[in-house]
Amino acid sequence: MTTAAPLTLPRPPHARLPFPYRPEAQALAGCRERLGRGFDWSAVVQRARPWVQAVREHPAPFWAMESLLKEYPISSAEGLALMRLAEALLRVPDVETAIALTADQLGRADFDAHDGSQGLLARLSATAIAMSKSFLPEAGASEPGLMQRLGARTVVAATLRAIQLLGRQFVLGRTIDEAMGEADSQRRAQPRLRFSYDMLGEGARTEHDAERYLAAYAGAIRAIAASASGRSALQDGPTGADGISIKLSALFSRYEELQRERVEAELLPRVWQLVALAAEANLNLTIDAEEVDRLELSLDVFEALARRIAAQYPRWAGFGLAVQAYQTRALGVVDEVARIARTLNLRFMVRLVKGAYWDGEVKRAQELGLVGYPVYTRKAHTDVSYLACAKALLEARDVLYPQFATHNAGTIGAIDQLARGLGALPDTHFEMQRLHGMGDGVYREVLKDGIGALRVYAPVGEHRDLLAYLVRRLLENGANSSFVHQLADPRVMPEELLASPLALAHAGEQAEGLTLPAQLYGVARRNSVGVDISCLAQRAPLEAAVALAQVPAVPLADAAAVDAAMARLQTGFEGWNARPLAERAAVLERAADALEGRLPEFCGLLVTEARKTLGDCVAEVREAVDFCRYYAQQARTRLAEQELPGPTGERNTLRLHGRGVFVCISPWNFPLAIFAGQVVAALVAGNSVAAKPAEQTPGVARRMVELLHEAGVPTDALVLLHGPGETVGAALVADARTAGVCFTGSTAVARHINRALAAKDGPIVPLIAETGGLNAMLVDSTALPEQVVDAVVQSAFRSAGQRCSALRLLCVHESIADGLLEMLAGAMRELRVGDPARLDTDVGPLIDAEAHAAIAAQVQRLRGQARLIAETPAPQALPDTQTPVAFELQHIGQLTSEIFGPVLHVVRWGGAPEDVVQQVNALGYGLTFGLQTRIDSRAERLAHLARIGNVYVNRNTIGAVVGVQPFGGEGLSGTGPKAGGPHYLYRFCAEQTLTVNTAAAGGNAALLAGGH
Ligand SMILES: Cc1cc2nc3c(=O)[nH]c(=O)nc-3n(C[C@H](O)[C@H](O)[C@H](O)COP(=O)(O)OP(=O)(O)OC[C@H]3O[C@@H](n4cnc5c(N)ncnc54)[C@H](O)[C@@H]3O)c2cc1C
Repeated sequence: MTTAAPLTLPRPPHARLPFPYRPEAQALAGCRERLGRGFDWSAVVQRARPWVQAVREHPAPFWAMESLLKEYPISSAEGLALMRLAEALLRVPDVETAIALTADQLGRADFDAHDGSQGLLARLSATAIAMSKSFLPEAGASEPGLMQRLGARTVVAATLRAIQLLGRQFVLGRTIDEAMGEADSQRRAQPRLRFSYDMLGEGARTEHDAERYLAAYAGAIRAIAASASGRSALQDGPTGADGISIKLSALFSRYEELQRERVEAELLPRVWQLVALAAEANLNLTIDAEEVDRLELSLDVFEALARRIAAQYPRWAGFGLAVQAYQTRALGVVDEVARIARTLNLRFMVRLVKGAYWDGEVKRAQELGLVGYPVYTRKAHTDVSYLACAKALLEARDVLYPQFATHNAGTIGAIDQLARGLGALPDTHFEMQRLHGMGDGVYREVLKDGIGALRVYAPVGEHRDLLAYLVRRLLENGANSSFVHQLADPRVMPEELLASPLALAHAGEQAEGLTLPAQLYGVARRNSVGVDISCLAQRAPLEAAVALAQVPAVPLADAAAVDAAMARLQTGFEGWNARPLAERAAVLERAADALEGRLPEFCGLLVTEARKTLGDCVAEVREAVDFCRYYAQQARTRLAEQELPGPTGERNTLRLHGRGVFVCISPWNFPLAIFAGQVVAALVAGNSVAAKPAEQTPGVARRMVELLHEAGVPTDALVLLHGPGETVGAALVADARTAGVCFTGSTAVARHINRALAAKDGPIVPLIAETGGLNAMLVDSTALPEQVVDAVVQSAFRSAGQRCSALRLLCVHESIADGLLEMLAGAMRELRVGDPARLDTDVGPLIDAEAHAAIAAQVQRLRGQARLIAETPAPQALPDTQTPVAFELQHIGQLTSEIFGPVLHVVRWGGAPEDVVQQVNALGYGLTFGLQTRIDSRAERLAHLARIGNVYVNRNTIGAVVGVQPFGGEGLSGTGPKAGGPHYLYRFCAEQTLTVNTAAAGGNAALLAGGH
């Protein structure tokens, strides 16, 4: 054996693929060109039509599920209920909650309304469900009667059983041995069948998870190697034998582009262990394809491993990866893999799939405001891409062994045609693949026609681990666009089922009804453009800007400066307020465009001055852009003059205008977004503004003020006044010319301002205060622990916990608390604390030494009073840094004050969740609240009960989006109205009704002219 080649990722990272967000039409044109003209789809139809007919005449076993889904498509309430139950019921540990969940889901679905014209089993299931519903309590009722409880237990047991059966359709065995036994028995009927085993589960969140998966994969490879299939692999090679599919996200909790160093140091050696095992046994090991943002990284990992394979196992041809055709870069991936093979003189196996996470990719692109979608948006486009990739793979068969994974008879027919055209032989040059439990009927027919060898992707796992996978399969079987769904529907004619994707995809345009992220809010308001930091081309300008960032110096204002500014602003108010509304709104829109164009520069400033991580900076600049556009749009519609109804002979008009000089006092934790949001709201309403930024972050504020001036805000309508709250802030609040105050910060300072305003003579002016919170999240036993941990880590520790929306109190149901807290502790250990300018930093330092000293003292106190759950390790003591830490309290009442840092409190709860919400209400704050439950009626009920401004269900509790989640609380958390919401601007306005007696001058001419 040669000396091991180093396992290193390409350095520095380079973009090896086209830009992920280029226009869809452009990517599609590349596919068409590659496919060439003259592809005869009618021949495909001729080939595939008999398969379709035969399957419809003789459906394969398990048709039950498909027909159930046809009766109740995933898009219907009933289908959704089935999916929701399938996703959650098996993991619920306590009967009462299981009953509540079942009642909730079955209760909202209407299984009895169907006439059941199709499918006996579907009809029977529906009848059974409809009948059993009568044994369930009303959805949401907490205390069902005894009879109902007895009946409900039976219904739940039956539902559980049904879901287990549904799951078994898609899982070959609970253990690798059981699965291999099942594989052997299937092989008795079809001797040439091969399997690729997959160990089911969620992605790793902790080191412990990763070790568990590593052991499971290694055990599986050893088991396959020891089997007859493994022995045949040693002789005949990986194509003829069973193999394994692995997910890199299962082997490392931080398998992310921004964690490249750790991926290299921790993930690579781990995967190598598996690769070496598979190579020794001469088996196929395929790396599954996961989310788009991991694509480049996965290729880097693949190449790093391939280099070592070239050195150590140069004759092994079993290493492979999956390529998703729905990605607009798919063709580039195929070419890249072929290039690597040629460079290293290796052969790879490449599984071509269409892709399993389409819905998730579309959502992510919309949330991040990306310039386009990284996936095709029309099914036909994905199909065309699949064909182009298939052709490219077959053409590279000297170095690649294509594995075509599809259940679509049309796609299979097209592969057959491509292969014939290129002289590629089934089995020798390529194989087909299907998922266990899917495509049985189609392949039964296809194999009769001699189209090659078939490998079955065979998930292995216990019930609990299969849930996420099961849901994917239900979605695939239930989606209208999916081939298997249409195949099960006899109303879909074969012509439609086998329609040519080439004909359907002629223009290459994006799908109708699926707006680009930029157009999410319609024509009236453009969404802010975001950045995909996982994409090198997109993050490079940000990194450059951080390196160059220079925070401008801002002179301190003194009492004289405040006085002069107020005088100036009072004069400036008249002119600005007199400007037409449309003009003021246009100024905001110009500012938004300018800010968007300078996103990297502002990110650089934020990282440097406010110590924020890059991801947080991008989100913050976007928020500021959104504020400008949103308030401009709101002003146009809501602040326009309104004619009011009244008696004839009179005209009544309501109009709004600025109040005067507004004082805006903003915090350091969102030195751009909150600062800009307050200022532009006040401005667009017609006020002039004295803007006082936080003492720690005047530089960002100064740049924003300059930008607003350049966009057209007169210099006497907006003045920046930097200085301490106690002097500058206090002077501004006390000034007689102040017509209103908009403040975001601590509850204590808000009270102070309130008192100062109340003590003044003269007009009583409005105070808009947004203050802190003791934000809680309630988790019941239906929640998915992995999702909860993700949400908790983001909510509690992002921005070092220095958000007013940050999670402070996690309330976990006692039945799942031990496991969940262990996972949380493991996930916390994986966070990276450090310099915010580094891309791999999750948690940066606190804003300054003073904040650090205060938080450190509070944490010290907690160490004596509460049980430490976990603490993120830090390699060395870092200045001003509090590492994320979590403590368990005995009860909610122990929490009395907000710790404005990465410090989480946890309590366990039992009994009624309503009581928990009441206790949270009793804390007096009301800013954000998280609910993690699959019981929809419970979420609805608890949200109503919560006296809290922003309630989030099954997600994190931070990052409210302007105009989407208007932000602000009640009680001790603020006065409202919510920032970024439709009621905000009114508070900055004075109102006037103008009543004109139009009949005064002699009579009511209009009425008389009407001729009644
Ligand atoms: C053996 C095997 C291994 C697999 N491994 C992976 C893997 O590693 N990674 C992975 O992601 N998936 C994997 N899959 C899942 C696979 O992505 C889906 O099963 C596959 O997409 C279904 O395609 P089809 O040709 O059978 O069905 P079809 O019905 O022809 O295609 C459905 C697919 O089209 C695409 N699609 C649907 N609507 C749209 C739209 N509006 N715009 C664009 N595209 C759309 C989606 O990809 C959807 O899954 C694997 C599947 C098999 C059979």
